Amino acid sequence: MSADITKVAIVTGASRGIGSAIAKRLASDGFAVIVNYAGRSAEAEMLVKQIEEAGGKAIPVQADVSDARAVERMFDAAESAYGRIDLLVNNAGIMKLAALAESDDTLFDSQIAINLKGSFNTLREAAKRLRNGGRIINLSSSVVGLYQPSYAVYAATKAGVEAMTHVLAKELRGRNITVNAVAPGPTATALFLDGKPQQVIEHLTKLAPLERLGQPEDIANTVAFLAGPDGAWINGQVLRANGGII
Ligand code: NDP
Repeated sequence: MSADITKVAIVTGASRGIGSAIAKRLASDGFAVIVNYAGRSAEAEMLVKQIEEAGGKAIPVQADVSDARAVERMFDAAESAYGRIDLLVNNAGIMKLAALAESDDTLFDSQIAINLKGSFNTLREAAKRLRNGGRIINLSSSVVGLYQPSYAVYAATKAGVEAMTHVLAKELRGRNITVNAVAPGPTATALFLDGKPQQVIEHLTKLAPLERLGQPEDIANTVAFLAGPDGAWINGQVLRANGGII
């Protein structure tokens, strides 16, 4: 691909946290970025402004990833703004923790809808519409492996995301599109920090041999590797980015 062509990335759930860091990093690597969000329009618009002020290209696009029609419209918006889609980063997600016996139907249904069906919706669209030579990167979690108490439903959705990663990588044979997952460990975002007692945060901070929480930029660096030229030979893999926790 010639250097003067701008590649286009869709980053779901980019209004804050890891997705926001990924969008910023990809924009500085030269991608035009679709900054997807569900509800936080002001944050998404602010991020787009920051990217533009730094010389990058981005537009905010509202879409609830659990809604297949909304996802189609997001891909339409990307194509009409930039004419092509080269990279999907499936980052949007929620986490609701409870012992399995205490987990209600809403906890189950909401995580299945956003984490699993949401990823399915965007993967299906990407499989049809990504340009040959593109990349797909799904966000899993190191809880697939750690399997701590209270994470049953969340871990199940992420295990499903990993399963789709492996299968889709094979289905896209012949298109030169790689499909991988990044599986962060505890990362300092609202999703991880909100509602956790300080002592639990301290315990989880010390769990990795590197003895700190991941930062959103750590995960953005990993995604940038898989999205960039150095990641070209990695396909159908789950890359755990967690400071050695598992
Ligand atoms: P945050 O809660 O900080 O951010 C989540 C983002 O997802 C927000 O931008 C939110 O948008 C968006 N989002 C939520 N629901 C939807 C939806 N239905 N449609 C579109 N966007 C949606 O989470 P993190 O940054 O921490 O997490 C990002 C990803 O990383 C998730 O998939 C998570 O499971 C995974 N992960 C996180 C870890 C951590 O420790 N933080 C560890 C392992 C994995 P809005 O605000 O506009 O609703």
